[in-house]
Amino acid sequence: MLGNINSETMRATNLQVIFDYIRRNEPASRRDIAEFGGLTVAAVSNITSKLLANGLVVEVGAGESVGGRRPTLLGINADCRYAVGIDLTTKQMKLVITNFKAQIIYECARETPLDRGPDVVLAEMAHMIKTSIQAIGIDPQKVIGVGIVSAGPCDPERGIMQSPPNFPDWGDVPIRDSIQEQTGYPAIFDKDSVGAAMAEYWFGKADGCRSAFGFLINRAGVGGALLVDGEVFRGFRGGAGEVGHTIVDIHGAKCSCGNYGCLETLVNEQRLIREVSTGLKMGQKSTLSVVEDYDAITLKQIMQAAGEGDTLCRDALDRMADYLVVGIRNIATLFSPEMIVLSGGMISKYAYFAKIVVEKAKQRQREKFVKCMNVVECSFHENQCALGAIALVLEKFYRSIQLD
Ligand SMILES: [Zn+2]
Repeated sequence: MLGNINSETMRATNLQVIFDYIRRNEPASRRDIAEFGGLTVAAVSNITSKLLANGLVVEVGAGESVGGRRPTLLGINADCRYAVGIDLTTKQMKLVITNFKAQIIYECARETPLDRGPDVVLAEMAHMIKTSIQAIGIDPQKVIGVGIVSAGPCDPERGIMQSPPNFPDWGDVPIRDSIQEQTGYPAIFDKDSVGAAMAEYWFGKADGCRSAFGFLINRAGVGGALLVDGEVFRGFRGGAGEVGHTIVDIHGAKCSCGNYGCLETLVNEQRLIREVSTGLKMGQKSTLSVVEDYDAITLKQIMQAAGEGDTLCRDALDRMADYLVVGIRNIATLFSPEMIVLSGGMISKYAYFAKIVVEKAKQRQREKFVKCMNVVECSFHENQCALGAIALVLEKFYRSIQLD
């Protein structure tokens, strides 16, 4: 099978396999690695000795003997490298710094000065990166890069944000190059929905899933990303995954993308608030009817009332969940992913909504053309996207490791 791959490529591939195995299964013995990768113990030892010499891997004790000497176990050297991940939203810039095992060692957030335009936002972001690295006193030379994720559309190859509707008048912004120039660290820019899915594949429940689809459900938008064997399926010019703009109601309201009845016009904070306030104005019974200004009702109030059993709020959320489940079912029918992961503020902050969506999705699993309906909530909640940015940085670093 590997006949026409040259030995250089094969060694690089073995290195990835070995390193990835240690990362996912540590502590790991050379024998386990060899068995997993279909390699000889000698070939594994040859590569792991170089990983040890480079300080990327460390010996972490002895395992059980299977006859003879007890094997030395290997693990990732947590403090040999660090990565920075940032989730940029219209509201805030959330930053996390992790060690080489993707354990968070520092986190902070700052309000996004959205009205002051992209130059000011990126200057503040760069400042935040540099001061955070200083604050925890790690060696800046050990920082392998900065990952930034934000709303789509974007061009991940060139690291450019492409006029997302929620960032009014920003136009195309070269986020990757700007942060690279201002901080001196290699940077990556990608969609937040890609980050959310990658975090789950690299560090969460989708570990080992051959195919997974991530939904990112925020107050004003629904994003998506399909992962196949851990790789993001990009489609032509990176356009794949935009599940929020699949049409679920041809007679629906106009969407920011120009179409009508897109999923994200129906799974949407403003729409939900409108529905509840209209109900209140029509005199429907609700605990929120005591509120003075029906037009000033908030998402938080609706979620809280629904959690406490309020029928008006529950019915409105039920309808929103039904639309989201149509989107989930469409994805399950099209791609049959092993796992569908739900993340984003609407899921992480509001347990009642997350619960009804998962329940409703699971009721659909007997449909003939839906072979798998394994819907789960994300693992990292408010840090999901920032950790996804970390996954993008680590992935790029792992691919580029050279030992000779
Ligand atoms: Zn749309």
